[in-house]
Amino acid sequence: MSDCIFCKIIAGEIPSKKVYEDDRVIAIHDINPAAPVHILVMPKEHIASMEDVLDEHLPLLGHIHGVIRNVARELKLDKGYRIVNNCGEQGGQEVPHIHFHLLGGRSLTWPPG
Ligand code: 5GP
Ligand code: ZN
Repeated sequence: MSDCIFCKIIAGEIPSKKVYEDDRVIAIHDINPAAPVHILVMPKEHIASMEDVLDEHLPLLGHIHGVIRNVARELKLDKGYRIVNNCGEQGGQEVPHIHFHLLGGRSLTWPPG
């Protein structure tokens, strides 16, 4: 999608700090980290949000979660971590290209605000 900031990152038109990439998925450092480790994992296909996920996308979502697990291991988040997906306005989603936050490196509070 031409006006999507994450599609521009995926296309290499906007720089990012990549930690993982394959044919379907990219993982980058968040530009404004909320924890010592804050990675965004997203599909290369533009899917706006969890609400736009089709059944045919479910294997892709499973793959994304495997990537999150692998990145967490590589970044040595052995004390634990959190995976977050913000969906839509009340979910706090700011960038309408589905992505999963991997947060770790400190004790995380619950519940979120
Ligand atoms: P959301 O609120 O949509 O779940 O999260 C969007 C996230 O994207 C935020 O944590 C924000 O800091 C991050 N972000 C926004 N613009 C950029 C960018 O240009 N590069 C990177 N690496 N992260 C971004
Ligand atoms: Zn996009």
